[in-house]
Amino acid sequence: MTNDLTGMDELYRDFILDHYRNPRNAGKLEAPDATFEDNNPLCGDKIRMDIKLRDGVVDDIKFSGRGCAISQASASLLTESVKGKSLAEVARIGKEDVLENLGIAISAARLKCALLGLKVLKQALAIYKPSEDL
Ligand code: ZN
Repeated sequence: MTNDLTGMDELYRDFILDHYRNPRNAGKLEAPDATFEDNNPLCGDKIRMDIKLRDGVVDDIKFSGRGCAISQASASLLTESVKGKSLAEVARIGKEDVLENLGIAISAARLKCALLGLKVLKQALAIYKPSEDL
């Protein structure tokens, strides 16, 4: 645990730590339609996302990785928010949405941590080739 969470509003700190300790949608999917893995060398964070798509909608998503609380909590929150969303809706998710979901002020040094999950998700979907035109 780093010191970055000290001095933070306790409620938000608990919220982040809860996602860090009990990540939602943690794990891997068998035969995912889209998958990608990336890391943040500045901090040592690593995240992989596995996505199952059905009719252009995120049917299931799981993530695995390791790293700081912010990177893992952010990925956990992101998987929760994209489940059931269409690819078009996921494509509209921006950095601001991710930061807003976290609910805390992220320092510039921690931006890459907070946004790693989104980056991995977008990359996974960018290289995903649907078997039929949607
Ligand atoms: Zn980090």
